[in-house]
Formats: sequence, structure tokens, C-alpha cells
Amino acid sequence: MELQVLVVDDSEFYANHVADALAAHEEIQTTVRTEPRLARRVMSRTEIHCVVSDYQMPEMNGVELLESIRADGHDQPFFLVTGEGSEAIASEAIASGVTGYVRKDGGDDQFQELTNRIINAIEQRQTQQKYELLFDNMPELLAYIGTDGVIRTANPAAREAYGAETLVGRSLFDLLPEADAQRYVAAGRDALDTGKPTRLEGPIGDRQFSQIYVPAEIPGEPPMFQVSARDVTDRREAQQKLEATVEKLAESNERLEQFAYVASHDLKEPLRMVTSYVQLLEGRYADQLDEDAQEFMDFAVDGAKRMQAMIDGLLEYSRVDTDGDPMEPTPVGEVVSDVRDDLAVRIDDADATLTVDSLPTLVADPNQLRMLLQNLIANAIKYAGDADPRVHVSAAERDETWVLAVEDNGMGIPASKQEAVFDVFNRVHERGDESGTGIGLAVCRKIVERHEGEIWVESTEGEGSTFLASFPKAADTDREATVTASETTGVGQRGGVE
Ligand code: ADP
Repeated sequence: MELQVLVVDDSEFYANHVADALAAHEEIQTTVRTEPRLARRVMSRTEIHCVVSDYQMPEMNGVELLESIRADGHDQPFFLVTGEGSEAIASEAIASGVTGYVRKDGGDDQFQELTNRIINAIEQRQTQQKYELLFDNMPELLAYIGTDGVIRTANPAAREAYGAETLVGRSLFDLLPEADAQRYVAAGRDALDTGKPTRLEGPIGDRQFSQIYVPAEIPGEPPMFQVSARDVTDRREAQQKLEATVEKLAESNERLEQFAYVASHDLKEPLRMVTSYVQLLEGRYADQLDEDAQEFMDFAVDGAKRMQAMIDGLLEYSRVDTDGDPMEPTPVGEVVSDVRDDLAVRIDDADATLTVDSLPTLVADPNQLRMLLQNLIANAIKYAGDADPRVHVSAAERDETWVLAVEDNGMGIPASKQEAVFDVFNRVHERGDESGTGIGLAVCRKIVERHEGEIWVESTEGEGSTFLASFPKAADTDREATVTASETTGVGQRGGVE
């Protein structure tokens, strides 16, 4: 780094002599002026890091030059060179704030020493400037406060927080409500007593601050503590809003579930009346009805039955969260085995093949896990393509989860519908021979979400689909061997495990 030193002396010879001596140091460059007036001009035009000035000059003496430079707003280190030793000059110089002084008759070594002092002084000023920049511009409030609560130093952020033009010399007890002032001073004293930081949150003005109190014992000064504080009002408000929203959402969700439950529950009765009276009509007046009327009657009964199924589905859906069983370690392989038994007839009728890999034990609600797998496997058979259905169940570890997969070779799902299939009453394929309500996958999603997992489908139309459900791993889950292909299908399995 280049350090610019301005040398001022009315004797050009001596000025150059000093300048040359200083410039012997590789970091120092010098500028020489023989008139204080011109020296002041240089100060305001170029960057000068330090001034070395003669004391005895005709126009103004060195101390006067220092004062005028300070008056111009320059705070660079200032060294004075005095002629034959005068104690009076030395003490005047020190009182007026010179950084140091040297005597002209001190011999050549003195320049080596002066050089070191100049470099030290400049470095110190730079450190000081950095600290001041930080202190003045940091968004956090920073203040030094005595144990009596009187503020010794405060940065602009602190003044802004307190809404006061000056804080130095004022007491927290005058600036804040009594209780807050007491709490804050106590926190500072605590920090001083224990030697450890004290943290708290509290108001200053109309904002909320997260504050840290640390002891600030500076030699030669009475004990004080430093407080730094960060405005957390916005963060706290945002957090409170978020909490309120979450609470509202939970309430609204609960009301919705309640609504779905009540609605579907209460719909059952009138629907039962429709069904039974249409059936009564059919039974009693069948012989008086013509073919058309008979057909209309069948449509009505069918519609009512469909509606019945939808209502049952809705009820099931609304009960996933409310009527779930506790979570417990559940071997997925055993669950699939049960599902296979339940679906034996359908598997047989469809000439389906169900193969199963080694599956883990999950912490889950066993009934719901069974419902999930039953829905997925039944769909895989139901939405088969032209070939005989082949269904494969497997599991893989992904990060902190187990991902169960039910893969089929069926008709697949177009990409645009792959999200929607999980919505209530959403159906992609209308199959004349397959009745469905479009609620099965919605129930699956709700079950997986109750287990804090996710469900999604990967599929290519015409080739097949893989439904995937993730479950967070619990400490006690472990891959457990195994489930075998059942007698029902009579087909061995893929993927290794016996
Ligand atoms: P449902 O089977 O009663 O119609 P679901 O909610 O179980 O209702 O499924 C929604 C829709 O997603 C189905 O109508 C079907 O179009 C599609 N679907 C579900 N599983 C599969 C699958 N394995 N292959 C292709 N399409 C599927």
C-alpha cells in the first residue's frame, strides 16, 4: 500500500531532507510544501495519509497549521518537528492533539523511528475508520451503557430506534418505561457479573428487538456493558401471521371434514328412501310398466346405487384423519399378503400376476396401509391394458424415506392427468364394465399424507403406471424379508427375494 506523507517546512532544504529520509521506506511517498497555506490546499485536493510539519514557520506555526487542518475537517495523524528542544512547545503540541513530535537535533536514527511511528499511526487510523464505519452504518443498534443505565456511546441505528437526536449522557430510565429500563440494565449487570452474554427480547420505542448484552470492561473506564440489538418486529409479526393462518387453515380443514362427514352421513337416509321406494315401485307395479318405464326404473336404481357408493367413499375419505388407528411398526410384506388374499378372486378372474419384492417394516396405521395397497393393487388390475395384468410391489430407500411402488403394465395415465387422479371424484378412464367413484386415490393420498409422506404416479400411456408412496423412515424400521407370490397366481416373483 502507498502511504502519502505531506512534509511542511519553510526551509526547502530541510523539507527535502526529511522527505528523502521518509521515502527510503518502500511504502511511503512524500509531497513537500514550504508554505502552510499551500499545505492546506494539498490536503483538500489529494489524498494525504499523514502530515509531518515544522513548528517554527513565518506564516503560522505548526500547531496553528494543525488547528486549521482540523478545522478543515481532516483528521490524519500529524507529527511535529521542533527546533532546539523546548519543553513549552512540546506540551502545547500534545495539548493541541498532535500525534507525536520529533526534534530536529535528534540525529538520523530519529527518521527511522519517525517512519515507524507514521506507519503505526496510519494503520491505527485505518482500523479506527473501519470500526467507525461499521458502528455508524450497521443496521443493528449498538450502545455502551454504564451500570447506572447511562448511555456512553450509541450508534445512529440506536438513535433511530430511540427516536432521539442524542443518546450519550442520557439514562435508559428516562428513555424507556421503568420496567423495560430495569430489565435491560439488569441484563447488562448480569453479563458483567457472569462474564457471559445475556439475551432477551423486548421493546424499544414501538418496535421489538432481540438484544444481546455483553460485558465491556475497557481499561481506565468505569464498568459498562455493550448491547447490540436487532429489530425483529417484522419477523415476529410474520411469524404470528403464519401461526394464525396455519391455525385458521387447520380449523377450516376440520370444518370441511366435519361437513363432508355430516353431509354424506345425512344424505344416506334420503337416498335410502329413494332407492327403496323406486324398488318398491318396481316390485309392485312391474307388470303394469312397459319396457321403457322398466328401463327408466333401472337407470334410477343404478343412479341411486352409484350415489350410495360415492357417499360411502366420501365418508371413508373424511374419516382418514379422524378415525385413524395409532401408528405402529407394520411389516408391509404381511399387509400385501393380506391384500392378495382379499383380492384373490379378482386376481384370478383377471389372470393377473402379482409379484412382490422384499418389503420393509414401516411405522404406520396397519388398516390404512392395507387400504392404500388394496386400492393401488386393485386399480392396477382394474385399469389393465390388452395384456394380462402384471403387478409388482417393491420398496426403495430414498434419503430419509421408504418409497413403496406398485407397478403395472396397464393402460397408463396421460401426463396431463397424473396429478388430477388423486382428486376426489376424478376419473380418467370411463370403463363400461368397471364402475368406480373416483375416490380411491383421493383416500390413498389422504392416508399417505396422514403418514407425512407423499404419493405420485409415473406413467406412460399404453405402457403402464407406477404409483409411488413415500413414508418417512422411523428409527425402528427395517427391511424385512419377504412375501412370496401366492398360490392364487401361481407365479414366481421378480427382484430376488424368496
Ligand atoms: P376409481 O378407480 O374409483 O375411478 P380412483 O381414485 O382409484 O377411482 O382412480 C382415479 C382414476 O385414476 C381412475 O378412474 C383411473 O382413470 C385412473 N387410475 C387409477 N389407477 C390407475 C392405474 N393403475 N392405471 C391407469 N389409470 C389409473
